Amino acid sequence: MKHLVSTKSISRDEAIDILDVAEDMSDVAGREVPRLPALRGKTIVNLFYEDSTRTKISFEVAAKRLSADVITFSAKGSSVSKGESLKDTAQTLAAMGADAVIVRHPASGAAEVLARSSWIDAKILNAGDGTHEHPTQALLDAFTIRRRLHGDHARGHGLDGCRVTIVGDIEHSRVARSNVWLLTTLGAHVTLVAPATLLPPSVRAWPVEVAFDLDHALAAGPDVVMMLRIQAERMHESFFPTEREYSTHWGLDDVRMRRLPGNTLVMHPGPMNRGLEISSGAADSPMSTVREQVANGVSVRMAALYLLLIGNEAEVA
Ligand code: ASP
Repeated sequence: MKHLVSTKSISRDEAIDILDVAEDMSDVAGREVPRLPALRGKTIVNLFYEDSTRTKISFEVAAKRLSADVITFSAKGSSVSKGESLKDTAQTLAAMGADAVIVRHPASGAAEVLARSSWIDAKILNAGDGTHEHPTQALLDAFTIRRRLHGDHARGHGLDGCRVTIVGDIEHSRVARSNVWLLTTLGAHVTLVAPATLLPPSVRAWPVEVAFDLDHALAAGPDVVMMLRIQAERMHESFFPTEREYSTHWGLDDVRMRRLPGNTLVMHPGPMNRGLEISSGAADSPMSTVREQVANGVSVRMAALYLLLIGNEAEVA
């Protein structure tokens, strides 16, 4: 892997390899000193042009656990707010000797632009670009599902036959897109459920089933129900009449939750709009993997940084 910009180009073997290395990294997290010297001397820049809580902190923790030097750079308070272009910022980071740049940007395609440019010769990791992709979120979701399905014997497995239903604001969700490519590559069957206004027209060409009735989709007994956040900040028009109407038709509320078999996994990438797409009862239930997803995010990001910067040749000690 040269960069990690999209899950679309990741093969099944590559995906399983990343998840297996993430298993090794998660073993490291359980140690008294959860640190490896693998990236000592490497400089990793967290370049965030959009708000983030989990992803930014998670990449920072991941890089530190691998002993890299980490610089976190938020667009607010930097020269970006004075109009400095992505190119100038990239060239500045190159001059400072960045080995990897983790970029979050409101424009779809920004990470790809950096990866293809001659402005900087660092590994580029996409931490979310507009509505396009969020590959490490999909990897941590796949890791979480695989672990719940296979426990300590997860290594080497894909997600063959696993039925995943993704619900909500597909139109604006980079999480949905990255998950559709990755989960289907790993052998899962993906169904998308949303109001027609929140499905992009391109969905017809995606390797998924599409449904509009949440109760019907849940009655089919999926193994995983992944709820998506309503991305109000990306909505410049009205996509549904009222929040109440949305949560009545497409929210995972306590009533729907009670109807699900107890071994169904309930996922959400965060941040959650409690009471809108997911009730507190659902979010905090033992069936919810929300906190596991966050913990697994560190292991998966350690694996991605390790594989990009060191490659496969060295065994994780
Ligand atoms: N945190 C995820 C993202 O950055 C999901 C979300 O914001 O709804 O895309």
